[in-house]
Amino acid sequence: MRGRGGIAAFRQRCGARGPGKPTVGAGALRRYDALVPATVIVGAQWGDEGKGKIVDLLAQESDLVCRYQGGPNAGHTIVVGDETYKIRQIPSGIVGGVASAIGAGCVVDPAVLIGELDDLEARGHTTRGLVFVSGNAHLIMPWHVALDGARERKLGNLQIGTTRRGIGPAYADKATRIGIRVQDLLDPKILRQKVELAAGEKNIWLERVYGLERFAAEEVVDATLRHAERLAPYVADTSLLVDHALRDGKRVLFEGAQGTLLDLDHGTYPFVTSSSPIAAGAAVSFGIGPQRIDEVLGVSKAYVTRVGEGPFPSEITGAAQERVRTLGGEFGTVTGRERRCGWLDLVALRFAVRVNGVTSLALTKLDVLSEFAEIPVCVRYRLPDGTETVDFPAHQSDFHHCAPVFEVLRGWECALDGDALPPNADAYVGFVSAALGVPVSLVGTGAGREAVLTLDAHAA
Ligand code: GDP
Repeated sequence: MRGRGGIAAFRQRCGARGPGKPTVGAGALRRYDALVPATVIVGAQWGDEGKGKIVDLLAQESDLVCRYQGGPNAGHTIVVGDETYKIRQIPSGIVGGVASAIGAGCVVDPAVLIGELDDLEARGHTTRGLVFVSGNAHLIMPWHVALDGARERKLGNLQIGTTRRGIGPAYADKATRIGIRVQDLLDPKILRQKVELAAGEKNIWLERVYGLERFAAEEVVDATLRHAERLAPYVADTSLLVDHALRDGKRVLFEGAQGTLLDLDHGTYPFVTSSSPIAAGAAVSFGIGPQRIDEVLGVSKAYVTRVGEGPFPSEITGAAQERVRTLGGEFGTVTGRERRCGWLDLVALRFAVRVNGVTSLALTKLDVLSEFAEIPVCVRYRLPDGTETVDFPAHQSDFHHCAPVFEVLRGWECALDGDALPPNADAYVGFVSAALGVPVSLVGTGAGREAVLTLDAHAA
């Protein structure tokens, strides 16, 4: 019924077509029906779903891994033998020698990117010709980092809880059209003009609103030009790159950071990230038509976590929350901050299935629930007017004031270390799949990189 690993089998189970050569005649239109899978991996909750492990697994079977949003605010720790890599900006597939692209929808901190390239090269990895950065991606400038920290400090209790790496302010400048793009690195004259313009405006904010030091435009230009020299060989047209890869029958994996409920448009605003983690973000970021994405793999924990403030209907009450937190190691990787823990919320997950067009789910950290005799699952929300819904409330006030309706499933109370799930764990996965109408194709059964079961699709 199931086995470990086997991503080719996973893709087949998802209905994926095998590699095929596009038919190309002189001057003829290339045919789309011969394309092979383009798969998006998307966080289906509030981030921290354990995407890194799933991405690593699928990256090994891919020809090109594409990061489509965010900046150095997400990242993975990759352990290969005795070597540990911490990668935040480049898709982690690069460690295994897989070509990696950073799309137009990302923001790039040049110093962080150069640090990662240097580290990889120092350890014997090739990066030239394997790492590609969209010329349309925006640069995180020093004032973005300064403003991010200053704004969070000023907001005090109302702070968003950003990682203070300048990502939100860089996206804000992109929207107000004073951003500086990766391709500006290739033209010193344009770069100087843009830096002077942006610095003039940002310095007013820094000085007058936050009482901080000004940035000297000339110094920023010099530092940025030094970065330019190092990064120039990596700047690429990533839309064309992906288009050619798909036409050539390559397997392309799109990797999202954060998660659906942190999406700028569709998430629980304002406690969201400043970009679009939802699956459609991959098409936007890489400039490909949405129909070219074949599969959307939603990654969800078998329970839920949320960092910081905001409504959380399925939050666990009593000692069980601490138990889940400890068993799941639910503390921020950088901050050490406790994550709030809740039982699986099928209303929120149904929303994620809908807005992403999820074609199958990876349910991670199922092992964390192994000690519980009974496992509540939130199946509906009760709204303030007494009605109940299986669909995520469209209005924030309903979400703020709704109460969870739980169904209690029986636990399995044994380790998940076999090649098959114990019956009650299997029933738990089947319940989730049936409620959402999508197959669960992968299940996380332990912290180790290899602790993943591939399932025959739990029929939706
Ligand atoms: P991301 O932030 O969503 O990319 O999550 P990561 O892949 O970096 O995983 C976060 C942590 O969860 C790591 O310490 C993983 O070892 C751990 N983890 C991932 N999957 C599982 C699982 O199935 N079971 C357990 N117990 N831990 C897991």
